[in-house]
Amino acid sequence: MKRTIPTLLVLMLCSPLCHAQKSYIHAGKMIDVKNKKTLSEMTIIIEEDKIIAVESGYLDPNQGDDLIDLKDKTVMPGLMDMHVHLENETSPKRYLDKFVDNDADIAFNAMVFAKTTLMAGFTTVRDLGGSGVNISLRNAINAGKVEGPRVITSGKSIAPTGGHADPTNGMRRDLMGDPGPEVGVINGVADARKAVRQQVKNGADVIKITATGGVLSVAKDGNAPQFQQDEINAVIETATDFGIHVAAHAHGDEGMKRAVKGGIHSIEHGTYMSEETMDMMIKAGTWYVPTITAGKSVADYARIPGYYPAAVKTKAETIGPLIQSTFGKAYKRGVKIAFGTDAGVFPHGENYREFIYMTEEGMPNLEAIQTATLRAAELLGMQDKLGVIEKNMYADIIAVNGDPESDIHAMKEVAFVMKAGVVYKLDQ
Ligand SMILES: [Zn+2]
Repeated sequence: MKRTIPTLLVLMLCSPLCHAQKSYIHAGKMIDVKNKKTLSEMTIIIEEDKIIAVESGYLDPNQGDDLIDLKDKTVMPGLMDMHVHLENETSPKRYLDKFVDNDADIAFNAMVFAKTTLMAGFTTVRDLGGSGVNISLRNAINAGKVEGPRVITSGKSIAPTGGHADPTNGMRRDLMGDPGPEVGVINGVADARKAVRQQVKNGADVIKITATGGVLSVAKDGNAPQFQQDEINAVIETATDFGIHVAAHAHGDEGMKRAVKGGIHSIEHGTYMSEETMDMMIKAGTWYVPTITAGKSVADYARIPGYYPAAVKTKAETIGPLIQSTFGKAYKRGVKIAFGTDAGVFPHGENYREFIYMTEEGMPNLEAIQTATLRAAELLGMQDKLGVIEKNMYADIIAVNGDPESDIHAMKEVAFVMKAGVVYKLDQ
């Protein structure tokens, strides 16, 4: 971590009235995500963790201020991925890991994945499900002990018995036991309320439910609805009392419909989303977080013999390839879309792939970048702090080497990362 400001030096030279040191970024190109256009020759001025001015032309810094020369790069707001799993990463031995890894092992892995994510230009992520170590990770990042993105975390996902997020799926009977709401497994309204309250008590910022089966759990069905309507309603009502959102993993259409009826904030994956459900989402203002990269990745891994258990392989082959076309249909119909990848299902740091898959379905390059900045900030309700390069916003700023408006593959080459005014990466 390189602080741009030699703080001690400033303290020694300055009286208490002395102006705080600023950083000046000279941006050769800068993406205006609000207006979906690329501006040229801009100066961004940063003081502490905030942007204090954005001006056209290259302004000279005052003596003692810092100059960051990004004249040959394209600058944009820090990227935001609304669906990651920072605790783990795909591996053929993933199904064994949960029997051998302690929380400390998970935490050390998560530290590495968090840093990889930040270095890939993602300065904010929503972690939608892990063991609960993701809450400690968020705290460690916020305290400056670990390098990583801002983390909005759901802690542990909520599912019914045998549902996608039941942690004992596929286990031997004596190991399976009967997990309950304290670990996010619910049956009925009272359990639903308790499970939400428990996650909030643990420190979750958002609630995640698995509204249908899923691909990677060792369970036969990937699509069937998993909650009764009253259970979904109870989850959402309880979360709403705490002022937090609920995100629903969903592949099958019926589970999605129940979630939307219950007032869900976002649908994740959305594989078999019908036009009727899309229209319900448009009417209700429900967000769609597609995770095309996860779908493509699981279909690829399913072709490697022995990579997944048999029950998972079949689902990965059938469900995985469909998400991209669902995204295309939902986009054209006008469903609100925020960027999300499901990173962890594929290697962390490859989040940029989602941009390529989105644009393949006809979304213009700068609109895809908008989903990972302005739109993601709106999903989080943080649009007054994040997602655009403007005065009073957090100084979460990145730069890539090429010009992503003309070639979206440029999103892979992240050369500069600043989060809250601190430079984490600067490749000249
Ligand atoms: Zn996920």
